[in-house]
Amino acid sequence: MYDENPAVLIVGGGLAGLSSAVFLAARDVPVVLVEKHAGTMVHPRARSINPRSVELFDQFGLVPKVQEHRSYSSRPGGLLFRGETLAGMEVFRSPLDPPSTVGRVTPQPWAPIDQDKLETVLRERAEELGADIRFATELVSFEQDEEGVTALVRDRVSGAEKTVRAGHLIAADGNRSPVRTALGIGLHGRGLIGSTMTLVFEADLSEPLRGRQLGVCHLDRPVTGTVLLQHDGERRWVFSMPYRPEDGETLADFDDERCVALVREAIGVPDLEVAIVPQLSDGTKVLGYELAARVADRFREGRVLLVGDAAHVMPPTGAFGASTGLADAHNLAWKLAAVHHKEAGPALLDTYDAERRPVAELTVAQALLQMERRTKAPDGKPGGGQGGKPGPDAGRPAAAEG
Ligand SMILES: Cc1cc2nc3c(=O)[nH]c(=O)nc-3n(C[C@H](O)[C@H](O)[C@H](O)COP(=O)(O)OP(=O)(O)OC[C@H]3O[C@@H](n4cnc5c(N)ncnc54)[C@H](O)[C@@H]3O)c2cc1C
Repeated sequence: MYDENPAVLIVGGGLAGLSSAVFLAARDVPVVLVEKHAGTMVHPRARSINPRSVELFDQFGLVPKVQEHRSYSSRPGGLLFRGETLAGMEVFRSPLDPPSTVGRVTPQPWAPIDQDKLETVLRERAEELGADIRFATELVSFEQDEEGVTALVRDRVSGAEKTVRAGHLIAADGNRSPVRTALGIGLHGRGLIGSTMTLVFEADLSEPLRGRQLGVCHLDRPVTGTVLLQHDGERRWVFSMPYRPEDGETLADFDDERCVALVREAIGVPDLEVAIVPQLSDGTKVLGYELAARVADRFREGRVLLVGDAAHVMPPTGAFGASTGLADAHNLAWKLAAVHHKEAGPALLDTYDAERRPVAELTVAQALLQMERRTKAPDGKPGGGQGGKPGPDAGRPAAAEG
């Protein structure tokens, strides 16, 4: 009656979904993962994972690969600085060397790895371990009963649909989580703080950089809150800028011509040669990113469990977002494996919400505190979001900027 019967169906092939697939497949749990996009993104998004995540990866043989893909930001000598434009005068500068250790808490270091690389590493490992990973495949609908979850999934290339019957469904479907919405699970917390558009571009910035090694650069042009990050440290860069959907502005307003003009204004070189790079296989060049602080009211509804951004979102200050999702995935995977292998009863799954939701609440609060400290003006008044004047801990590592 069903086309397939995995123990667990994972919806979403970002960090939380792919790491769930690794952690489950390594414990011999049959798993199918569906991701609606055709491939992983070009945009690096989160730039670093914390030592606890490295500890988790160590259990699954992932550390050598993570080290192999260390990002450019791990090179010593990187700077956090601020100016009106990149070519203009600096008003603030701080070293940005990544910490190699966090003292006696753990032998593992921070791992500076860009999210696009980490997702590729996780996907390869999940497949090696036997997980069935399907990109260009979306969850169309699902329903659950006491025995399991029935889901309709569609191959977005061929249009073919299949009915999957799984014991449990992991909703790793991101910030807007259609699964969470379908379950009617609400969100609480401070909510939307701001909206950012972000793109990747290629250009020769050697002249405006004047020998500086770009780690994170806060700029006041085109608007305060503009951030420039390295991508490959040579020709490819990440540009982000606040935009205002609340005033009717949309991502479609950022066509190539406007994007090139915005980048030139930020750099301060009016005739700079700039190429905007597609970030998704469908050619999408500009992405929107909500700066928000929210936690789901519950992380479990029967046989469906929320992980990662589907369960919580937080500002990037502190670099907690990705690692919190990885920790969710790890906590949930060993419990689902124990239930699947009949080593524990289903009540074990109740501990997932009890353990992870308070951690999410605390972590979101910490990310907000760090954001406030960092954006506070010297007179103690709130600054201009991420682009405000750096606060007392502005010299923290690149990780702190995501
Ligand atoms: C542009 C951008 C920049 C960011 N920068 C930072 C940063 O600097 N620092 C930081 O800590 N965090 C940053 N983040 C957030 C960070 O990337 C997230 O915390 C992390 O990606 C969460 O992983 P996730 O797997 O929970 O969700 P996501 O990465 O959002 O993955 C969810 C996936 O689910 C898929 N999906 C949704 N619905 C369906 C469906 N019906 N069927 C199949 N698949 C579906 C989506 O296509 C998506 O790939 C950024 C995010 C974005 C978008």
